[in-house]
Amino acid sequence: MGKKNKQFVEKITAMEEDFAQWYTDVVKQAELVEYGQVRGTMIIKPYGYAIWENIKDELDRMIKATGHSNVAFPLFIPESLLQKEKDHVEGFAPEVAWVTHGGDEELVEKIAVRPTSEVLFCDYYAKNIHSYRDLPKLYNQWGNVVRWEKTTRPFLRSSEFHWQEGHTAHATDEDASKETDRMLEVYADLVENYLAIPVIRGRKTDKEKFAGAKYTLTIEALMHDGKALQSGTSHHFGSGFAEAFNITYLDENGKSQFAHQTSWGLSTRIMGALIMVHGDNRGLVVPPRIAPTQAMIVPIAQHKEGVLDKAYELRDKLKEIVRVDIDASDKMPGWKFNEYEMKGIPVRIEMGPKDIENEQVVLVRRDTGEKEFVALSELTDRLPLLLEEIHQNLYQSALSHRNEMTTVATNMDEFKQTIDEKGGFIKAMWCGDLACEEKIKEDTTATSRCIPNSDEKVSDTCVCCGKEAKELVFWAKAY
Ligand SMILES: [Zn+2]
Repeated sequence: MGKKNKQFVEKITAMEEDFAQWYTDVVKQAELVEYGQVRGTMIIKPYGYAIWENIKDELDRMIKATGHSNVAFPLFIPESLLQKEKDHVEGFAPEVAWVTHGGDEELVEKIAVRPTSEVLFCDYYAKNIHSYRDLPKLYNQWGNVVRWEKTTRPFLRSSEFHWQEGHTAHATDEDASKETDRMLEVYADLVENYLAIPVIRGRKTDKEKFAGAKYTLTIEALMHDGKALQSGTSHHFGSGFAEAFNITYLDENGKSQFAHQTSWGLSTRIMGALIMVHGDNRGLVVPPRIAPTQAMIVPIAQHKEGVLDKAYELRDKLKEIVRVDIDASDKMPGWKFNEYEMKGIPVRIEMGPKDIENEQVVLVRRDTGEKEFVALSELTDRLPLLLEEIHQNLYQSALSHRNEMTTVATNMDEFKQTIDEKGGFIKAMWCGDLACEEKIKEDTTATSRCIPNSDEKVSDTCVCCGKEAKELVFWAKAY
């Protein structure tokens, strides 16, 4: 191990040694987050927020491109409104934070700080949907929500987090189904093509679905330590909420009908996925398409005449084609290398007196550490290609890892052995009974992640009870 590597070992815990500590170290050292004053809250720092903003901007563009409008609904929900849909309130009750006072005065009715906003949108839709001409309603909002979590970790589980929540109302069940599918595909597109994280698309079991939903679709990703992370969900509500909130419209024949609704959300949790899928023992690795800085110029021997001028000149030229920055501070180049590796900047560009003489630069890619010399005249062609190669490599590495960490189990001995010794996704058949799903969780701590969109069959019988199997399920320990 070289001198350079040694410095990193001192800085962050190796992931093989203690994955949870490695995660905490990366979050801190890469300057993504700091803990807030109230337990479980987080301060997202400039670099962390810049990454989130790039994710957010891409997703916002996709949400608008699929016909949705952004809105902003209140942070507060009256208690009586939250209680209108029975399953929904039961699902969220343990995590709701309540406002009981306004100034010194006790409120007549408690007010919930939104844990999610279904009921607010339902109340609005009940008042604003009258005719089939009012449909569909395709709304989305960016905001923060509060869920009073018992155990918290930055990005993965926090008492307050940022997200978008889409809420739509449609004339028919079929229209709502199409919307549910469409938005899951938008999430899969974002996560695979911008965050370079392969996902499994599927449906949640009834046990794992959203409180109040007819069904929930999900994208599931596998983290480096073999645990799964639910990365985005899209819910079909049928007419359940519409019936509870009396959201009706007159159809073309003048007959009163219930609306059919969906909701879908993706949150700052995805930052946790990004860290745990691509990160390594040198720190964070940010996929190029969402990296706030795609290339960082580090001048070498910058005190020598002409070096800084050339470096700034290079930056101005590259600014036209990539998100580039320069570190011309008087810190040592070695310190800068460490710093930008820790922050996961996709490419480092080194330029010293010798390079200037030879009319070249050195490109060092963050994902593999490989170096290449590139002529200045070819750099504007080479750099975008290299960023593309890095994206592809990150995606393919994550996919290979997921494939290696996906195991078929046909009985509980195989299931338990895989969970204990290897982790990852387990593909196993299920009879559809809640009892088996609960027993698997109790015996192995693995939960059903999703029923994938495929007809694949790995055996004829349920992995747990041995009765006839209905569906293939992906199981895993999960965040
Ligand atoms: Zn069974």
